[in-house]
Amino acid sequence: GGGLDGAWARRWAEAIAEGVADRKAELTALDRAIGDGDHGENLDRGFQAVLGKLESLEEGATPGAVLKLVATTLISTVGGASGPLYGTAFLKASVAAGERESLDAAALVEVLTAARDGIVARGKAELGDKTMVDAWTPAVDAAAAAGDDVEAVLDAAASAAEAGAAATEPLIAHKGRASYLGERAQGHRDPGSESTALMLRAAAAVA
Ligand code: ADP
Ligand code: MG
Ligand code: MG
Repeated sequence: GGGLDGAWARRWAEAIAEGVADRKAELTALDRAIGDGDHGENLDRGFQAVLGKLESLEEGATPGAVLKLVATTLISTVGGASGPLYGTAFLKASVAAGERESLDAAALVEVLTAARDGIVARGKAELGDKTMVDAWTPAVDAAAAAGDDVEAVLDAAASAAEAGAAATEPLIAHKGRASYLGERAQGHRDPGSESTALMLRAAAAVA
């Protein structure tokens, strides 16, 4: 397909809000097992606020402007560990998108890479630490290898994030609340990796 414009970015944010609302209880249940049981509520509060803010965004807003609005809203509403991490991800993504009216595959890979790099810079998690990075890093790698079709890039990223989230189940956590549990975290999927997979699947679905 062609490039991803501001209308796509808006649909993406709306699709995340819908997906998080639908799966709020599931995300919270994952976090109840190895965290403090608020991940679904945290993200739902944030993305419902995003929906409100999108209404006042100008019609022809660029992808970067939409991503920046998502970032600032998440930073001020989500809280916990995931608020600043996702806030940073969307902020770095918006900077990478810049003033472009639409994103081609190369720009999209830059945007996804910037988001992942922002999360790593902020949270200092490495691959295998049982965090959202375990979804983001395979997603970015798959995106970079997917070629020059934006829909193929997003589909590859979403599929890799889903596999990465599933692969957190046997791991011991080295960052975040689950790291307090040691081996007791094994057998449970990391909630942030699952919400990342949800976000990237939503991006592909609306492309
Ligand atoms: P909190 O743990 O403060 O209640 P959330 O429940 O909203 O915050 O988010 C928890 C998720 O945040 C975890 O499942 C994990 O994916 C992610 N996370 C926590 N710490 C880090 C970190 N240092 N780096 C990357 N991701 C992290
Ligand atoms: Mg939590
Ligand atoms: Mg919390």
